[in-house]
Amino acid sequence: MAADDHFAYIFAAELHERLRWFITLRWMAVAGLAVGSLVGPRMGLESVWPSLFVVALFVAAYNLYFSWRLGGRSGQERPLGGLRHCAIRQMVMDLAALIVGVHFTGGLQSPLLPFFAFHMAIGTIVLSTRLMYLIAGCTSLAMLLLYILEENGVLRYHPLDPLHGICSRACYLNMVSFVMALFGIVYLTDSVTGRFKERNIKLHEAKAALQERTEELQQLLDEIAEVEERKSHYMRISAHQLRSPLGTVKTSLMVLTQGYVDPGSERGRKLLEGAIERVDGLLRIVNDLLELAKIREGRNRAPWARGVNLNQLVADIFDAVSPLADEREIRLVPLVEGVAVLDWGIPPDLVFALENLVQNAIKYSLPGGQVTVGLRVTGGGEAVLTVEDQGIGIPEEFVEQVMDEFVRAPNAKAHAAEGTGLGLSIVREVVEAHGGRITVRSVEGEGSTFTVTLPLHHRPPEVEALLHDGNDGGYQTPTGS
Ligand code: ADP
Repeated sequence: MAADDHFAYIFAAELHERLRWFITLRWMAVAGLAVGSLVGPRMGLESVWPSLFVVALFVAAYNLYFSWRLGGRSGQERPLGGLRHCAIRQMVMDLAALIVGVHFTGGLQSPLLPFFAFHMAIGTIVLSTRLMYLIAGCTSLAMLLLYILEENGVLRYHPLDPLHGICSRACYLNMVSFVMALFGIVYLTDSVTGRFKERNIKLHEAKAALQERTEELQQLLDEIAEVEERKSHYMRISAHQLRSPLGTVKTSLMVLTQGYVDPGSERGRKLLEGAIERVDGLLRIVNDLLELAKIREGRNRAPWARGVNLNQLVADIFDAVSPLADEREIRLVPLVEGVAVLDWGIPPDLVFALENLVQNAIKYSLPGGQVTVGLRVTGGGEAVLTVEDQGIGIPEEFVEQVMDEFVRAPNAKAHAAEGTGLGLSIVREVVEAHGGRITVRSVEGEGSTFTVTLPLHHRPPEVEALLHDGNDGGYQTPTGS
């Protein structure tokens, strides 16, 4: 039944088609009844005119009504329940018309009797078996009642053969075989079509599953195509970033080797120093690219740890960046509330990311400025880390882009020549690998605030599986608590 409901729209379409087909068949029955009522009297059956003609008109009237009801909308747009009710109503009307027809054509000797079998078989195909047994029972009772009323003279008997009266007691045997035939046909039709119905449902289930898989596959293919596109875009901009410093270095070396400038002269020395600076920049880019690749390669292979204490991590970073802050005359201010411990984390990556944010804040601050590093735990089980500075800020049109690879705002380039534009991309990757998010608020000339939110109880599914196997990640340093 559940599958039945699941595929209701398919069954509705089928039932709708059948019902329309029955309407066509019924027009034939109308014609047959009308012809029978006209021809019957010539064959000695006086009772069929005009009685059968009236029955034909009655059948034509409700057939018109049902054909109007079934017109318009397609089967799939109709509720299955409504179509089933329509089928039951048609069946009841047909049987009623048939019983009246039988009454005027000889009762249990009527040539119309086989049509009951026809209705039982078709009914069992389109309606439920239980309902069909009920209809077979009611039809049997109605026929029995008709026979009793005819036999007792309450209803006039219309014999097929005018010379004969109502067919004696033997007709009770006819009655028994009639009832058996009705039930037998329902039973047989059900046992034959039951299997088809089951197979039909299974077929539809398989079809639906296949469609689902196809959609999933298509989605995967789309994702792969998107990743491929991102990858080639990334490679293109990486190559571009590497090409221009390499070109400059090559030109400097050519000028020197081809004797245009003496390497021992002041100009030659400057050219060599410039080349070294460019190579340093290239190395920084290559190192950052390697770091980014390492993070993207997968966290289950990274040295992760359970219970990563962020307070400890912030303290370590403070120690590490203090010399740089002193050198640039920047005041470092901690603002720590509570203790934040992550269930799971990759300490070296977290150190890299947070250090990068604090180093940026120092790098893009003016001497005498202040950098505040905040850490607090929310009621929702998240650690919130903020790095706030009063430095050069980010131009409005760059705020959205600064976390993309190789993006450097013009004011940052003017303020600090060295920089790869890859640091924030790495930070974002690290934060997302820990199930967190990073946002930035900034006003050019006033300062910036980077906010990292990390869920305390996050564990990637692949790590969950490793933990289940007793793997502990293997990270052993003071940052793991
Ligand atoms: P890099 O610092 O090497 O240029 P990042 O990826 O770390 O690369 O930063 C990307 C860009 O974001 C920077 O070039 C700069 O324009 C902007 N930015 C990052 N942090 C700050 C900050 N604290 N203040 C102002 N601008 C920043």
